[in-house]
Amino acid sequence: MSDILIIGAGGVGRVVVHKCVQDATFDHITLASRRLSSCELYQKEVKERYNKEIDIAKVDADDVPALVALIKKVKPDMVLNIALPYQDLTIMEACLQAKVHYLDTANYEHPDSAKFEYKEQWAYHDRFKKAGILALLGSGFDPGVTNVFCAYAQKHYFDTIETIDILDCNAGDHGYPFATNFNPEINLREVSSKGRYWENGKWIETEPMEIKMVWDYPEIGKKDSYLLYHEEMESLIKHIKGLKRIRFFMTFGESYLTHMKCLENVGMLGIQKVEHNGCKIVPMQFLKTLLPDPATLGERTKGKTNIGIVAKGLKDGTEKTIYIYNICDHEETYKETLSQAVSYTTGVPAMIGAKMMMQGKWMGQGVFNMEQFDPDPFMDALKNDGLPWFVKEL
Ligand code: NDP
Repeated sequence: MSDILIIGAGGVGRVVVHKCVQDATFDHITLASRRLSSCELYQKEVKERYNKEIDIAKVDADDVPALVALIKKVKPDMVLNIALPYQDLTIMEACLQAKVHYLDTANYEHPDSAKFEYKEQWAYHDRFKKAGILALLGSGFDPGVTNVFCAYAQKHYFDTIETIDILDCNAGDHGYPFATNFNPEINLREVSSKGRYWENGKWIETEPMEIKMVWDYPEIGKKDSYLLYHEEMESLIKHIKGLKRIRFFMTFGESYLTHMKCLENVGMLGIQKVEHNGCKIVPMQFLKTLLPDPATLGERTKGKTNIGIVAKGLKDGTEKTIYIYNICDHEETYKETLSQAVSYTTGVPAMIGAKMMMQGKWMGQGVFNMEQFDPDPFMDALKNDGLPWFVKEL
């Protein structure tokens, strides 16, 4: 059916590889990453678990000519960018030059500025359209499934949605005093930044962790949830009609927040170079070296994640509120893909996004966000591919 090139053999990349190998949509898979050793590990796993072969390659995804050469050699139908947000623009550029479809899970960030927005990726729309290819942005869980949940709510439950709260809870315990469940640098940049939400047509900025609420997450219980800025809000305010407010909340335990504050206070979250013993280092990158690799957390993580959306709006003149959510168990995802649930809940939607594109269920010319496509086939696939969801009327 289709040939794909996956770039990025990290925690999420492992899940994407396992799930794509399990799915008959994908005939031929090539996995490329900065280090060949990362790819070799997953190639071996695939051979042992499924008795299947994948090809592997080494590539620096910051190098557009190297990417174009690899794409031309592999000749995939599409590229799945599962590397870091820093590589979004170079991989998009290479896909344009080689004329192949593109998908990613996180929006572009410049390494020197912890500020993420879609502006630079949306600017590619006309060039992708002209080339007759699709770039699907943010096909992870949040962004990704949360966008699809919103589109599904709009399609099936409301005439207009007035408010949306996105609620992300990870109640997993890995037993370390401090570790992040996905790339530490990206994670800590995100959660230590100022918060932001959108209300009545404008963005309102908050101090980091300034707004807290307690939410009762099904199968987990009550958890402190903090308001953060998250990228899917930027596209959802464009595409969900009648929206008056959208916010994003994530749970953090006391210990995580205390560690983070301490690291921040001593300068370890800095992203500018500092002089150290005659060489230049970026404190945050050094910290990443010290922290546990998220790809190794699977074996020791217990507990569940629960990510969903609460939408409030009007249907036939009556107010209603619905909650759509998924619950994922760290130990179950480890059994299936040797990965913890944060990687799993990101990697499965990346595979499903690619499947939607390769099966022609989601296709277009230009740069698109998830909520711009029909949510139904994606929602069906979530149920079949390991991320069942529930709808509750509140
Ligand atoms: P990891 O750090 O575990 O993996 C990233 C991988 O990218 C590494 O294996 C690394 O390669 C590779 N990489 C980095 N730079 C380059 C480069 N220049 N060229 C080639 N390969 C490179 O991160 P995660 O797997 O945790 O996260 C992957 C992506 O998923 C990130 O963009 C993250 O923001 C996103 N994400 C999205 C979520 C969502 O819900 N939408 C949730 C969680 C994560 P190597 O090992 O070879 O050095």
